[in-house]
Amino acid sequence: MPSSKPVTVFGPDFPFAYDDWLRHPAGLGKVPRDLLGAEVAIVGAGMAGLTAAFELMKLGLKPVVYEASRLGGRLRSQAFEGGQGVVAELGGMRFPRSGTAFFHYVDRLGLATTPFPNPLTPAAGCTVIDLEGRTHRARTLADLPPLFSEVAAAWADALEEGAGFGELQDALRERDVPRLKALWDRLVPLWDDRTFYDFVAQSRAFQRLSFHHREVFGQVGFGTGGWDSDFPNSMLEILRVVLTGCDENQHLVVGGVQQVPQGLWQHAPEAKAHGHWGAGTSLAGLHSGAPRPGVAAIARAPHGQIDVTDVLGNTRRYPAVLVTCQSWLLTTQIAVEESLFSHKLWMALDRTRYMQSSKTFVMVDRPFWNDLKADGWPVMGMTLTDRLTRGTYLFDNGPDKPGVICLSYAWMSDALKMLPHPTERRVQLALSALKRIYPDVDIASHVIGDPISVSWEADPYFLGAFKGALPGHYRYNHRMFGHFMQDALPEAERGLFIAGDDVSFTPAWVEGAVQTALNAVAGMVRHLGGASHADNPGPCEAWPGMGPVALSD
Ligand SMILES: Cc1cc2nc3c(=O)[nH]c(=O)nc-3n(C[C@H](O)[C@H](O)[C@H](O)COP(=O)(O)OP(=O)(O)OC[C@H]3O[C@@H](n4cnc5c(N)ncnc54)[C@H](O)[C@@H]3O)c2cc1C
Repeated sequence: MPSSKPVTVFGPDFPFAYDDWLRHPAGLGKVPRDLLGAEVAIVGAGMAGLTAAFELMKLGLKPVVYEASRLGGRLRSQAFEGGQGVVAELGGMRFPRSGTAFFHYVDRLGLATTPFPNPLTPAAGCTVIDLEGRTHRARTLADLPPLFSEVAAAWADALEEGAGFGELQDALRERDVPRLKALWDRLVPLWDDRTFYDFVAQSRAFQRLSFHHREVFGQVGFGTGGWDSDFPNSMLEILRVVLTGCDENQHLVVGGVQQVPQGLWQHAPEAKAHGHWGAGTSLAGLHSGAPRPGVAAIARAPHGQIDVTDVLGNTRRYPAVLVTCQSWLLTTQIAVEESLFSHKLWMALDRTRYMQSSKTFVMVDRPFWNDLKADGWPVMGMTLTDRLTRGTYLFDNGPDKPGVICLSYAWMSDALKMLPHPTERRVQLALSALKRIYPDVDIASHVIGDPISVSWEADPYFLGAFKGALPGHYRYNHRMFGHFMQDALPEAERGLFIAGDDVSFTPAWVEGAVQTALNAVAGMVRHLGGASHADNPGPCEAWPGMGPVALSD
């Protein structure tokens, strides 16, 4: 009998139940009494930094948060001028319900979520697929020509054939750690060296079909849309996405996801969970309202301490420091003393590979796409195409508010096509591509206010959208993810922790940023002489029994 339990981001590399750990009434641990109120530094006020800061504050430490750009990092909801609070989600925008640690905070903050209008979902209503100049409209897969169902079936068969997917996901649903690890650890050396494209092209399931089936898979993909931008990535990375349900059952946060990091910044936890700080204490309160400026240097100080110097030249000394910005910034933004990390870790930090991504948004007077044509279909739908725009998403904020169109959400080479252009030109390019799909719809006539666009790779505080591991990168992922376990490190390399999207095994999903932040919390508490509660063992205690499989160097 296959398991009917929900799919969650439970490993598979390190199948630790972060959601249970967070929910447990005993809390995440204790720091020695004499360290209550001690300052620890957190570099970066994105979701990883603020998750860690929030939990460390609850444990009675005094996190000192540094941020070079905007609070929220890549959870950035930019309001349109005069738009009655409607926003463009410039970074993360759709959040799988399987990300239970992230949703722990969404729920705690009382934020409302609603299904994201992904292709072929009821939330999208109508999906338009435009490939090689042919346009199809559909509400479900069954509305599309048989070729699309053949592609979907071939993908399911390829997963079964190449990864024993059914059994693997069953073990994950059951949270059967020995079974999950046995199955996953066998796949790691098999697929770390090979690309997603290789997996698809060499599968018997796709080899039986035409090249065009493969092309359609690349453009339309599974779940949220085209995945051909990921074809060069390590297949392990794609397996994790499908296995952990990251690409399905996704929600958006009503009013903007930035409310999650901002909420953690403002939120005062209930006094009893607090330990040291009195009721009403929040991160914002501990910082007089705003984080400290960006960090310029991190260096070793005497007695195991670490000095953090901000861009204004202020130096403060800490017993432990957590860095959560993208790892390339440890050489381009921050002068990090080389001896703080081993050469092997530096190799991993610098070899990290980021994907590019651009998004272009406009605000429109009303959700006009719901108007019906004579044939009964809406005038416009969520659109997937092989044209420049790639993915177009429609956000209906209700009849009394302006709507938002993400004209184009693109990755890699499609994002680079937009990179040199200013926002207005990006809008023109996107509108002219959409005109070919919707010759009768005058989208431009509905646009109000100023458009908004982003290219994450052009921002010096990010240099890319998110990690996309290449073949052969498992060992680097392993070094970075496991760095919170510092017992075996030489003294000179202890006390500086890393967390965030690119430290995670599931990059491009905020759940990974949250989970690695929780690892860093556990690692820091241990480093300071504390521990998890005996009734609620944490990642440090779980690591020896279920840590990721090590491949030889
Ligand atoms: C285009 C895009 C789409 C995405 N889509 C999704 C999605 O749909 N669903 C999903 O779950 N996830 C998505 N993600 C991933 C998600 O946004 C990230 O995993 C998450 O926000 C990363 O959080 P973080 O704290 O690790 O990093 P960040 O948010 O990058 O935080 C690090 C912070 O460090 C700051 N910093 C940089 N340099 C310094 C310095 N010198 N000193 C101090 N601070 C510094 C940065 O300004 C930043 O605020 C997407 C990301 C992007 C970019």
